[in-house]
Order: sequence, then C-alpha cells, then structure tokens
Amino acid sequence: MVSSTVTGIGKVPGYRRIATEEAWAPRELIDLYRRELADKSIDDPGFHSLWGFFAGASERANLLVDRIQDLGEKRLADMDATGIDMQILSLTCPGVQLFDTATATALASRFNDELAEGVLRNPTRFAGLAAIAPQDPQRAAQELERSVSKLGLKGAIINSHTHGEYLDDPKFWDIFAAAEALGVPIYLHPNTPSKAMIEPFLARGLDGAVFGFSVETSLHALRIIVAGVFDRFPRLQIVLGHLGESLPYWLSRLDYMHSIITRTNRYGAAAPKLAKPLSAYLRENFHYTTSGMGWTPPIMYVHQVMGADRLLYAMDYPYQFVAEEVIEQDNLPLSATDKHLFFQGNAERLFSL
Ligand code: CA
Repeated sequence: MVSSTVTGIGKVPGYRRIATEEAWAPRELIDLYRRELADKSIDDPGFHSLWGFFAGASERANLLVDRIQDLGEKRLADMDATGIDMQILSLTCPGVQLFDTATATALASRFNDELAEGVLRNPTRFAGLAAIAPQDPQRAAQELERSVSKLGLKGAIINSHTHGEYLDDPKFWDIFAAAEALGVPIYLHPNTPSKAMIEPFLARGLDGAVFGFSVETSLHALRIIVAGVFDRFPRLQIVLGHLGESLPYWLSRLDYMHSIITRTNRYGAAAPKLAKPLSAYLRENFHYTTSGMGWTPPIMYVHQVMGADRLLYAMDYPYQFVAEEVIEQDNLPLSATDKHLFFQGNAERLFSL
C-alpha cells in the first residue's frame, strides 16, 4: 500500500527509475507453497516460517499474494504511482529451490516462459531474470543459456542456499561458467537461513528479512569468494541486494583477517590463497542494490567505498512498497551523473537493457 500522504513523485528530468529486485510469483508457485505448508514434506524451517506468514490470512499477506502474481495492469499502476519506469522481475524467494530436482528443473523452465511472455507484453516497463534450479547444475546452466538467448531474459536469480548447499561447491560451477560466457549477472537473493543455522534466529523471530536473510546471504557470498570462484571466472558478476547484505561495511577487516588465514594456511584447501584481497572481488565482481534499504547514510557509504558504477536502485516490490523511499533516493546527495548511473545507467549496462 502506498502511503496516502505521499505526493510529488513524477517525472524527474535526467533519468529513468529502473527497479532491479522486484518479485513475481505465478499462481502455480503459490499453490505449490500452500500445498507444502499443509503437507510439511520438506524439512526447511525457514520456508515454513516465511511462507507460513505470506500464505496466511493477514492483510499484509493478502495484499502481497495479490500483487506478486500480477504481470500487468495492477503492477503497472503501482509502478506509475511510485514513479518506477521499469522493473527487473525475478521469481520470488525461495523460487523453485524448495523442491526436488525434477520438479524444480521443470518448473523453472515453465516459469521462465511465463515471465518472458509478461515482459514481451510490456517490453519498455519490464525485464526479467531467469529462475534456475541449482539442484541440477548442468540443466540449470542450460536453462540460463536458453532463457538469455531464446527468451531475452537478462541473467539469473538464485535465492541463496539450495537445501542447505552453497554455490562455492565446484559441482555448481557450470552455472557460473554459463553466466560468465553469456555476459549476464547472477542475482544472489536472500533466502531464510539454512536448516543448519536457523534455530537461534527462529527463537526470536529474526529468521526473515529483518536480519536472517542478510546473515545467510552475506555468508553465501563470502563462501563463493574465498573458494576462489572469481579467480576461476574473473568476469563473473554477482548482484547483492540490501546494499550488499552488510559486506561493504566489512571490507577492511575481511582483508586483514583473511590474509592471515591464508598466510598461515590454517584451513588448508578449504581456504586457499587467492590472487587478490577479498575487497578486490567485492569491488570488481559484485554490484549492490538498495532493495529494502532506502536510507541515505548507508547508500552514500556504499557509493563511497564500492564506487558509482557498482550501486543500483531497487525497491523490493511488493515486499517493501514504500513511496517515501523513492523520494529519499531521488534526493540522494549525488552528482547528476552519479544519480543517472544509480537509477538507470548501471542497470542498463549490467543487465544489457
Ligand atoms: Ca527481494
């Protein structure tokens, strides 16, 4: 719901507002989530916490489920009401990663077809990222290739862990190879913490977007870096939402401590020596969006330490549909050039729009 007190978002000369982490879910996915909530056949406490709420009966849940399915008039009206020129759409968390391998692989393909059709109906307002099923890395790489070359999608979204597994495992690296070869980014979107780490979060309601998402996803990104993925795939680009899930704040300490770990060979092959300091990968192989973090001080900090060409606007619609945050980001104390990069130019370059 847009606050009724907000007025004045209109055409702003100089840039288009491209929102880069905007969620979509077909009815079929929500029905499958509801069935799992009833059956409890999948041992994923984070999913049951998250979708137990969003598939529930609260007003917020009803509005969310209504908005998230729409790929047409309702969504466009909400975009118009908040001055959003374009959404880059992606299948909502946890996407198909919840399911068994065969189900997930088949669903990803169907949902990508459906998303591509929605984009084609409004090609100036929508672009899309492919859903893929890391459960079968080879098929996931093929689906990414198909989605980009045949369907015109602009990259892939992966919702952090898949049944507790992380992409630093070399068995997943066909996905990275495909993304690098295609020149498209992978959006590493949050998921609730994996089963192995979620209990202390659940005990105080901290498992979801309030904090658990960020812990889970920043850990995942670091695992990918320290495993040496970017020494192997130096052109690969990963996108992190929520201003980098706290990692930009950690640059100095990460470099200092990781250099000691590798110099002393304390963890052997599990933490190999890398070609560059960790901060170099975070600056050269990552982009950062402001999804859910429409607050000036941390945005300006990420702009300062990561650079104007690494920072992109995102809303996180429909989960965080807050018009005031658009206005706040319109008013960021950035130069006209950097604000254009932030709202438009970086998205056009990164996603080949
Ligand atoms: Ca999101």
